[in-house]
Amino acid sequence: MEHEVMDVLQSSVAQALAADYFCIYYVNTANDNFIEYSSSPEYRVLGLPKIGNDMISFSRTTFEKLVHPDDQEQFLELFTKQNVVESLNLHGTFTMTFRMMFGNVPTYVHLKATRITDKDDHHLVIGISSVDEQMRAQANFEKAHHASITYSRIAQALAEDYFSIYYVDMQTDHFIEYSSDEAYRELCIDRSGDDFFALSRKNTLRVMYEEDQGAFLAAFTKENILRVLDEHKTFTLSYRLIMGGVPTYVSMKATRMKDEDGNHIIIGVNNIDAQMRQQAEYRRAEEDRITYSRVAQALTGDYFSIYVVEPDTERFVEYSSTERYSELGIEKAGDNFFSVSRHNMARLIYEGDRDRVLGTFTKEKVMKILERDGSFTMKYRLMFGETPVYVSMKATLLEDKNGRHLVIGTNNIDAQMKREEEYRIRMADARTQAKNDFLANMSHDIRTPMNAIVGYTNIAKSHRDDPEAMMDALDKIGSSSHFLLSLINDILDISKIESGRMQLNMGDCDLMAVFSRIEDITSLQARSRSLSIHYDHSSVKHFRVCGDELRIEQVLINIISNAIKYAPAGKSVTLIAEEMPGDAGRAKYRFIVRDTGIGMSEEYLPHIFESFTREQSTTINRIQGTGLGLAITARIVEMMGGTISVVSKQGEGSEFTVELMLELRDAEGETGPESPAFSETDLNGKRVLLVEDNDINAEIAIMILEQYGMLVDRAVNGREAVEKIDRGGDGHYDAVLMDIQMPVMNGYDATRAIRARENTSGRILPIIAMSANAYDDDVRECLDAGMNAHIAKPFNPDELMIVLHSHIMSGRG
Ligand code: ADP
Repeated sequence: MEHEVMDVLQSSVAQALAADYFCIYYVNTANDNFIEYSSSPEYRVLGLPKIGNDMISFSRTTFEKLVHPDDQEQFLELFTKQNVVESLNLHGTFTMTFRMMFGNVPTYVHLKATRITDKDDHHLVIGISSVDEQMRAQANFEKAHHASITYSRIAQALAEDYFSIYYVDMQTDHFIEYSSDEAYRELCIDRSGDDFFALSRKNTLRVMYEEDQGAFLAAFTKENILRVLDEHKTFTLSYRLIMGGVPTYVSMKATRMKDEDGNHIIIGVNNIDAQMRQQAEYRRAEEDRITYSRVAQALTGDYFSIYVVEPDTERFVEYSSTERYSELGIEKAGDNFFSVSRHNMARLIYEGDRDRVLGTFTKEKVMKILERDGSFTMKYRLMFGETPVYVSMKATLLEDKNGRHLVIGTNNIDAQMKREEEYRIRMADARTQAKNDFLANMSHDIRTPMNAIVGYTNIAKSHRDDPEAMMDALDKIGSSSHFLLSLINDILDISKIESGRMQLNMGDCDLMAVFSRIEDITSLQARSRSLSIHYDHSSVKHFRVCGDELRIEQVLINIISNAIKYAPAGKSVTLIAEEMPGDAGRAKYRFIVRDTGIGMSEEYLPHIFESFTREQSTTINRIQGTGLGLAITARIVEMMGGTISVVSKQGEGSEFTVELMLELRDAEGETGPESPAFSETDLNGKRVLLVEDNDINAEIAIMILEQYGMLVDRAVNGREAVEKIDRGGDGHYDAVLMDIQMPVMNGYDATRAIRARENTSGRILPIIAMSANAYDDDVRECLDAGMNAHIAKPFNPDELMIVLHSHIMSGRG
């Protein structure tokens, strides 16, 4: 035994330990021998045997007296040989804490038995150390803890929300962990101890996201926490811990406990990762919301209200609304924008608009329109009390990083609608006025020549015996008819222009031909009014252009005719045509018509191109006119992309300028086949088939044709014409004058039938349409059907003869 003891005594470990222990016993459990190896003075005072052979029973009996009465029961229960051996077998140690009475002073001691493994299994060392200080601190601590049931309740309540809760004594740094989440427990292993700050800093740093470490170490010091808690109720700190490999946001919160000494704080650590993520998302949404609300604010002035709607969920936010709009008591509660809106609409929309709006304003229809057009608008009236107010709702589909949003603004357009309404009424009034003026003008303008025609026809009848008077009457009938015809043409033109049906017939245009026809017509007019007229187109180099030849001619003839009409005898009229270089393949043509006639007043000039307006002097002077010519002229020039302007001085004369940009045609210099010069004798004996269902028209035509020595055969419809031509055989007729609207077979079909037969014979019979259908499209249809020319009814005999002559002569060879 001595031997063994010496072994142990030599053990440096035992020596080192001896200082920390009240007492150390060496025990052989096989025979219960024991020897006290070392003991402190306090322990020695107890006077216990240092050597013996009944360790356990010795201890049980001896210690029983030395153990604090409150701990005796526990001591006897635990300190049995069987229990000690079992514990040693299981854990390698046996420990127990109890109070020993040193005199009257209870002292916490810790008994620890350890097996000595280098020997056989029967040897162990029992050490008894004082843990009094430690236990008292713990006891105090627990007292404080238990003293406040509220604290524990709070702790319990918080436990669910917290990763972990620590109770920390700020004076001693002693801490206890109340509860902790399993995941957290793995990270921060210490449950209790005397060095809260050092331990926490060490443990936390091990698992802290690197970026957050600096800030954590700076803030998480005892001094800092106390300083913050002095000023504020709580100290909080957020940082990221690496949990399961991912940085996870946690928040630490420290609160001072209101206990007696005020030294204790409770610290909770909480997982706020989901919350942080939500916050980040919220912040992003908030940024968008700010953008939206800025937009909304900017628009508020114009809008009654602005809503932003999530189309899928139909959740919506109202961004702004005016006081006026709020007056309506719009319901805004609910998650479903369309049904909330429809509910409001049904209540607030003016009855006359309600069904229309509700019929359209469904999610399906609105979304469909939005997807197609990007925006959706609807106008309707909202009832503000008894007053309907026009509003316009506009929905736009916005797509941004947060998905699709509908922005719906409703604005007050009442004033605007009222202005438009007023404008519409005024326009309608003006149109009615214009129509009335037109009819008044028309009936007057038509009646005047008709009156002359009817009157002079009666005069002619009653002067059968007076050839001179009869001729005079017939002249007047002729000129009135002529005027009536040009009036009707003008009316047709202006109504075509106003209804937008006037079309230009663009094609090859020979300005040389235009000039020569103008000269033919106007030189005669000028001569009859004793005026001198001059033409100058010496600066024009290119005559072949692209344009509507007839309309260019009509424009120039209108202006020159006016110059002739409104210039007293002896004055002069000049037409100057100039060509100026234009851009790529085009040239600018300027036509100037200058007269030294009566001129116009400054007041009238601004109205010169308006329909039915005439300068007063011309009406006083009883010069015939309708005030339509220049209106038509100006519109045609406009359609050609050109300009027309006028300068005039009363009593001195006028100057009209028309400028047109025309495309040049290549075939320069070469003029088209000149129509053979007209000679009356050429038509003598020529055979004409007149296809005409109206007897009076037929009679007039036959008389005129026969005057020129032509042989006229008549068919009363298209079918008869085709049959006559078939029967007559090749070359029997020299020309056909074809009416269009006829019973049985019309002129178009007849022409097509005739042309179909010719295809085999090879000869082309001139067919000239003679029709009251005189619009451009009618003329085109005639040409398309295979006719050679078109003459409008009522026809001018000279013109008819010129056309007939040119076609019969050119078809000769
Ligand atoms: P109309 O000649 O049928 O009256 P226009 O539209 O051709 O109608 O002309 C409108 C008015 O302009 C004429 O009535 C006339 O008062 C005035 N006017 C046109 N051309 C001249 C001109 N060369 N000299 C003086 N007045 C003119």
